[in-house]
Amino acid sequence: MLRLEHVTMKYPTGVTALNDVNIDIKKGEFVFIVGSSGSGKSTLIKLMLKELEPTQGRIVINGRVLADIPRKQIHKMRREMGVVFQNFRLLKDRTVYENVAFAQRVIETPTRFIGRQVPAMLTMVGLGDKYKSFPKELSGGEQQRVAIARALVNNPSILLADEPTGKLDPKNSMEIMNLLEEVNKRGTTVVVVTHNREIVNLMQKRVITLKKGVVLSDEQRGGYLDEN
Ligand code: ADP
Ligand code: MG
Repeated sequence: MLRLEHVTMKYPTGVTALNDVNIDIKKGEFVFIVGSSGSGKSTLIKLMLKELEPTQGRIVINGRVLADIPRKQIHKMRREMGVVFQNFRLLKDRTVYENVAFAQRVIETPTRFIGRQVPAMLTMVGLGDKYKSFPKELSGGEQQRVAIARALVNNPSILLADEPTGKLDPKNSMEIMNLLEEVNKRGTTVVVVTHNREIVNLMQKRVITLKKGVVLSDEQRGGYLDEN
């Protein structure tokens, strides 16, 4: 469902962020991608979202080669992927409800569906009673829950999270990871980029370790390697 074949990404500056990376993620998997700063994790996420084109190799998502998708159809492909970032990226001047509804409005979901799906999604992330709040009235953990609700409201098959707990304390980090695990149990493929050693070791999921743009290890029920 999500495959990188001999993917190399060299930026115009000359930096090779990824070098001959091969990764195969099956439908329904929960995968951590770890590695020290600069190892190529965010580049990997950007390639999967087709925000960047690899210099070599190819990326296949749900049976489609990303390079073959015409510009006009990129938005359809992105609907298959929800994405969450370290800094939440919520709209400051919109309520929690509007932040989640926004993802549906851009794809022109009829209002009656939005009125049903947004509350259901907010309840799923544990924020059913906060729909009228503004982002600044929420804790970091709650803001990330809103971002997760927004990422999932269009029912993507894959959720990509780039350091989703990077700005959270240990307790909130664990709660967000538990939420991502629950999302995964409901059938969404989940890919989490993280630095959080404790969580990775605790969760016992597949762990892909990047080092300087190369896959150093890829293990089922792995741990966070010490050299990282
Ligand atoms: P990580 O997310 O693991 O910290 P990145 O994917 O952000 O790593 O970066 C990998 C390497 O690519 C780093 O050396 C970084 O400086 C470089 N890099 C990232 N983005 C760009 C860019 N837009 N232009 C040039 N080099 C970049
Ligand atoms: Mg990064």
